[in-house]
Amino acid sequence: MIQYISTRGNDEIKNSAQAIIQGIAKDKGLFVPNILPGFNKAIASLKGMNYQEIAYEVMSLYFEDFSKEELQDAIDKAYDDKFDKEDVVPIINKGGVYFLELYHGKTAAFKDMALSILPHLLIKSLQKEKENKKIVILTATSGDTGKAALEGFADVENTEIIVFYPSEGVSEIQKRQMSTQQGNNTHVVAIKGNFDDAQNGVKGIFNDKEFNSLLEEQGFMLSSANSINIGRLIPQVAYYMYAYVKLLEKGVIADGDKINIVVPTGNFGNILAAYYAMNMGLPVNKFICASNKNKVLTDFINTGIYDIQREFYLTNSPSMDILISSNLERLLYHISGGDTQIIKELMQKLETEKKYELPQLMQNKMDAFYGGYADEDDTLSKIKALYQNENYLMDTHTAVGYHVYLEYKAETNDDTPTIIASTASPYKFTNSVISAIAPSQKGSDFELVEKLHEMTGVNIPKGLRDLDKKEILHDTVIEKYEMKQEVERILTDK
Ligand SMILES: *Cc1c(COP(=O)(O)O)cnc(C)c1O
Repeated sequence: MIQYISTRGNDEIKNSAQAIIQGIAKDKGLFVPNILPGFNKAIASLKGMNYQEIAYEVMSLYFEDFSKEELQDAIDKAYDDKFDKEDVVPIINKGGVYFLELYHGKTAAFKDMALSILPHLLIKSLQKEKENKKIVILTATSGDTGKAALEGFADVENTEIIVFYPSEGVSEIQKRQMSTQQGNNTHVVAIKGNFDDAQNGVKGIFNDKEFNSLLEEQGFMLSSANSINIGRLIPQVAYYMYAYVKLLEKGVIADGDKINIVVPTGNFGNILAAYYAMNMGLPVNKFICASNKNKVLTDFINTGIYDIQREFYLTNSPSMDILISSNLERLLYHISGGDTQIIKELMQKLETEKKYELPQLMQNKMDAFYGGYADEDDTLSKIKALYQNENYLMDTHTAVGYHVYLEYKAETNDDTPTIIASTASPYKFTNSVISAIAPSQKGSDFELVEKLHEMTGVNIPKGLRDLDKKEILHDTVIEKYEMKQEVERILTDK
């Protein structure tokens, strides 16, 4: 049976239900499967399966302590008509690549792929472990996780959800999506700081032993809906497998052929899921890790040095405005061969010296990763070009991926079939998207949504319609050092 252990080696061994409940390990590490499972059957045998069926094939290998009924039920409840496409994840061939449209869920970003199922996995985990404390989901968001987690957990029994977002670091639409959230257990708080401040604050609360004991006495227990939770990460492995099977069915590739996977990357969760898929047997040539101007990862992949002492930029791909990519720690654990001591050292260095260098032996294991970045003009010009040439509209994050892919291709002449994780609807970042294709159009983000629809005919996602007419229910703004008090205040009222 697969077990979950901390990347830093100093927490107890868990089964998947326990790891999902706890969220983050007590030694500040992240839970990882002790072995990365491989498929015990040919991927080609999945041909003809739909998304839900492939999701089951993948997740059952990681969540072995769940019964078939439990897992199946969670999958059926997650990937239902909340998604506005029947096939859940359409794959669109444009501009020489295959766009894996991961944004057809309730909140119009790929975070829905995992956050539609996480609440169901968590509820079942609590039942399995006979845990009866009230679960408090603490979440830091660069814009998309917050709304997807709020939608996933709204009015879910025995939970409270608290979301922290950088007050100036999200798009107008993202902000309004969160501030209009309904549900008796939902709490949304803006902090005066950036995403890293929000994420560090949340991690600090998780690691505050005294505070956690205090909460426990009051019947509460903290957990996470960020991709540090293994219950967020594993469901994402499924769509890479799904994409490969669909390309097989279409005859784009033959069984065993390699593909490239391009991922616009922030916290490194989505691309790590692709790496897990490769370890299951998915043939991958290159993982193309695309960053925006906050290009810590590009530099890291090219030099082996992770250095966060640099300017932080607010860009037109805000969900990737991140300097500390949490899930990289999991990759490092795997490529170190499970050396928890070295992971502890590297992460300590990051905290104290704000940088670390990867030992050569580990750098050698990063060969499958290509790192590149796009600045804001690169991003807009790619949106414009693809729209003009192929009548296909993509959002700013996906455009970062597309730009880096074109650079990779020009550099290498590699013509391996390539999929791009298309991470958000263009309507989530209307302002930037419209400035790319029709810069003379002006107006609020909400007016521009209508204009973009008139111009392009692309359907407006249900969740983004009439946002400006909804009542604002959350308007708290706090200093970044007030996060713990705010959690206390919220829970005292409960
Ligand atoms: C979260 C997000 C990303 C980054 O994904 P990671 O898993 O954090 O690397 C990219 N694009 C969009 C639209 C997102 O919401």
